Parts: sequence; C-alpha cells; structure tokens
Amino acid sequence: MIVMTTTFDQLGLSQPVLQALDMKGYDEPTPIQAQPIPPVLDGRDLHGIAQTGTGKTAAFMLPSIDRLRAADNRTPFKSCRMLVLAPTRELAGQIAQSARDYGALAGLKVHSIVGGTSVNKDRNKLHRGTDILVATPGRLLDLIDQKAFRLDGVEILVLDEADQMLDLGFIHALRKISQLVPGDRQTLFFSATMPRAIRDLVGQYCHDPVHVSVTPAATTAERVEQFLLMVQQDEKIALLQMILSGRYDTPGRLERVLVFTRTKYGADKVVKKLGQKGISANAIHGNKSQPQRQRALSEFKSAKVPVLVATDVAARGIDIPGVSHVINYELPNVPEQYVHRIGRTARAGKDGIAIAFCAEDERSYLKDIRKVTDAEFNRLPLPENFRAVVEGVGPTKPAPKQQRGRAKVTPKHGGRGRPGDNRQGKPRGKPKRKHPNRAGKPRHDGSSSPGNNGGSQRRRRRHRHG
Ligand code: AMP
Repeated sequence: MIVMTTTFDQLGLSQPVLQALDMKGYDEPTPIQAQPIPPVLDGRDLHGIAQTGTGKTAAFMLPSIDRLRAADNRTPFKSCRMLVLAPTRELAGQIAQSARDYGALAGLKVHSIVGGTSVNKDRNKLHRGTDILVATPGRLLDLIDQKAFRLDGVEILVLDEADQMLDLGFIHALRKISQLVPGDRQTLFFSATMPRAIRDLVGQYCHDPVHVSVTPAATTAERVEQFLLMVQQDEKIALLQMILSGRYDTPGRLERVLVFTRTKYGADKVVKKLGQKGISANAIHGNKSQPQRQRALSEFKSAKVPVLVATDVAARGIDIPGVSHVINYELPNVPEQYVHRIGRTARAGKDGIAIAFCAEDERSYLKDIRKVTDAEFNRLPLPENFRAVVEGVGPTKPAPKQQRGRAKVTPKHGGRGRPGDNRQGKPRGKPKRKHPNRAGKPRHDGSSSPGNNGGSQRRRRRHRHG
C-alpha cells in the first residue's frame, strides 16, 4: 500500500500534527497522502480517487488541521470551520475519530452528527459551533432546516466517498449544501470511482483542483484473489452454511468473513438461516439502530462473532482490519459496488479472498463486473452431492476425519493451518461453456483447493476457470 519516497516532515506539516502522527505510529505517508498534502496546505482544491483503506482520511485531515490552525479564526456560533460530509454513519464516526487523533495537539473542537441518534442532543452540542464537523447529509440538513445550524462559517468543505453519496440519493442534499457554503471555501473531493456524474460534480464543486488517483477508477483490488461459485439461488444458503461450518474446503483460512447481500431483508434472512444451523452472525444495515450497528462491528472486530452480513450501504467505508474473506452472497447490480465490497479485505497491505456466488439470474451482473473491473475469477466446484444436501435427502461426502472442520469459522480459531486437501468438492456436471485455457493467470494455491486431488482434476478445472 505504501510507496516510500517521502517522509511526513518533508510535506510541510506543523509540529503538533507530526507529533500526533508519531503517537499514531505512522512512519511514512501513503501515496494518497504524499501527493496532495503540499498543494492542499497551499490552499488548492483537490479531487482524489481513492478507496477507504488507502489512508485518504489523513490526506484531507492533516493539511486541513494545519490550515485551520494557521488561519486561527474564531469558532463560529452555530456553524463550523471545516465540514466533512460522509455517506454512512460508520464512516462519519471513523473520520471524526481520526480528526480527534490527528488533531490531538492542535486544540480544535471536533463533532460528528449522524442519523439514528437524538437530534436534540446534536442541536445542543452544536449551539456554540465547532471547528470540525463530520456529518451525514440528511442529519445536517435536518439541523439547517430547524435553523439550529448554518454553513456560513465553512472554510474547508470535504466530500468523502462522493460516489456513494450519489448512489444513496444524496444529490439534492449535496446541491442544497453547496448553495449554503461560502463560495471562497476550499473543497476536497474524494470518490472511489469516477463515473460521469462524479466528473460533473467535481466541476461544480472544485475550482482548478489538483487530481490525485491511487487506484485507477473501478480497478479491482489487486491483492484480492477472486473465486466464483455458480450456484442456484435456492442453494446459496446451504452453500454458505457449508463454507462457514468448515464442510467446504474454502481457499484461505477463514478468520473474519464479511457476507454481502443486496437487501436489508436478505441480510436478516441469511443471519436467521445461519443461526438455525448454529452459526452465529450479525447483520449490519440501514434498519439497525446505531447501538446495534456498533455492537455488530465490535463483535466482528474482536472476532467474538466473526461473520458479519452486510448491505452495501452499511459496509461502505468501514475500516476493519483482518477481514480474511468477502463473500458476495448476492452479486451487486452496480459493478463498482463489487470493487468496494472486495476492497473490505486485502487492507493495510494484506492479501484477501473474495468469493462470489452467482445464480442464473445474476449472470448479467457478473458480465458487467467482468467488463468494468477486468476481474479474473477462479471457478470453484460445488460440493459433491450438493443438491441432495440442499433437499435434505443425503449428506455430502464427508471430509477425511483429520481434516474436517479445519476451515470452520470459530471465535477462537487457534491459529491452525489452512484447510487441507479434503477432496470434498468436485465439479458438478459438464461445464456449459468451454473457456479458453487460462493457464498462467493467478489461481489460488492448489495445495488447499477444493477437489484438488491431483493432475487429472487439475487439468479439468483449468478449463473451468471463468
Ligand atoms: P483510511 O483510508 O483513511 O480509512 O485509512 C485506513 C487505515 O490506514 C486506518 O486504520 C489508518 O489509521 C491507517 N493509516 C492511514 N495512514 C497511515 C500511514 N501513513 N501509515 C500507517 N497507517 C496509516
């Protein structure tokens, strides 16, 4: 993740900020930090293309803290000097925490306001104004409509994950906010992807911005190994249960598994069905209260409940170290979402594994994902006798005794090795379509692949890599 060309103290940051970074234990700036910090310190607008996990929060927060300190304006009554807009409550919370950490020695007031909490409390806490406000657009407009907050004090405006804000339908809120902030403010604009709508917005919000991109738009995270399981819609839950309970030889060791569904209802249903098989999981989505979301996240982080079922909205921007697997239980209908989803793993320089379940009616989504991201999928076989298991009329062929359950997700995994060669998976039926031989393309480590029982099967599977 980090290309070491510069150090933080070469970027022109102040001593209090450098000391705070020292306290955080950051040695070198990441690329999204090294490039924009000097021009942002000079007051330039910025458009950055970067995903969460690249260090972009510090990229906008560090120079902004220094600019606020240097200008030394009074904290405005019922307003703020720096406004950061974020699409989700979790991301807003994370940014506010980073602002407090990075500005620990700068003496600036930081507040965050998000939906799902008491609006009266927000009104009270913002009455005297704040230096830095991190907000989700809906709650901010609520307070503005109630005349409890104004935007005329804003010196720096940050739009974080702007593409996600558009996806969530915040465009009208953003337009309204843009009319209320002073015209001479500095704007720092971040998106993970660069669709036309974002290009247009950048044109409206930014004046002659510096452009920085650390990942080409919509390019799939390179360190993520991607796998594909073609499975019928009504078989998906059984397959997920088998994977999570260690009855399917999954690539990589399962530590923390993030499962994506398209809908809130779908996420709840998956949690319930897993629970029926004794696999505990939490759901995180927009219908959950803030305390429920926080509990789900902390139980996931501590690996007390290492399976989290999420919708796109809720998972966007969440910074969770140690997600070993992302399972796309349902494929997203917007290909860029696939990039965001699998970007939850392989963070902070680690490798990650993404497994996509694709049903017949999702083939067009898969095609779009391939087209937009250039994703290389390694096709995995379904378990032997899988249909019989789904219908409850027969067991799968069990894994050899000493291997069984090794990939199982348990709160205390105990650091055992990767699941071995248990040969329970075997391609089902004939492939519908022959694919060109993709030998030489990245594949997962054959030593632990499902159904990896030697040369003949390996040859057969080579033709199945989609
Ligand atoms: P972000 O993309 O801003 O959410 O940051 C992702 C993670 O990287 C966070 O946990 C940060 O604390 C961490 N991070 C950000 N910048 C650095 C850095 N220069 N060195 C080490 N860790 C960093």
